Amino acid sequence: MDQYRRWKDIEQSQITSVETTDLEGRLQEAAPARDQLETAARDQENQIDVKGFEGSGVMRNEEVSHYLADNLPANHLRGDRITRIQYADRFDGDHEGNTLGVCRTNPATGVSDIQINRQTPEGSMDRHMMEHTLVHEVGHNVFYNMGEHNISTWEQISANSAPDGYVSNYARTNMHEDFAESYAAYVRDPALLQEVNPQKYAFLKQSVFGGREYGY
Ligand SMILES: [Zn+2]
Repeated sequence: MDQYRRWKDIEQSQITSVETTDLEGRLQEAAPARDQLETAARDQENQIDVKGFEGSGVMRNEEVSHYLADNLPANHLRGDRITRIQYADRFDGDHEGNTLGVCRTNPATGVSDIQINRQTPEGSMDRHMMEHTLVHEVGHNVFYNMGEHNISTWEQISANSAPDGYVSNYARTNMHEDFAESYAAYVRDPALLQEVNPQKYAFLKQSVFGGREYGY
């Protein structure tokens, strides 16, 4: 009888422990899937609305999203900072020097709406120029959101540039364009930025890209 009870006890405890282990195991197995779903839900809320690029003949909406996600830090692409990146499939012939892109930022909130423009009545810019323009416009939003201290540091660095300390002629326009052009160069042509202005390069590396470097 004692023997029998002991067997029953063992049996019972084994069954209990198997069931418990199984349940814990299942919860553990389900955890990554649950995390993935939660992350996906967050991403969905935080995604930039990319639209209109199918009409560019250069990059599709999906390619634009992938190019930016593959090349820029995730915190530069927050959907609550840049609400929309839109390709404007029209050519404004009256507009002198049709701009490549526009980044409209609400100065109070730092939230931007980006537009990339068709360049000629016949066609668009090439892929190289479109990628550059996309990164340049994102750079404008990053500038607005990098904090007063960093903005005033950049103001000084930009103002103290040597005559040849700019990555492009357009960068000479003002400190905003200097930042957007330097930001684009940091990602797409880091050797150029390093060569023309190591101080700008160091600032971007440390204060904007958290140490991440490209092409080295
Ligand atoms: Zn600009």
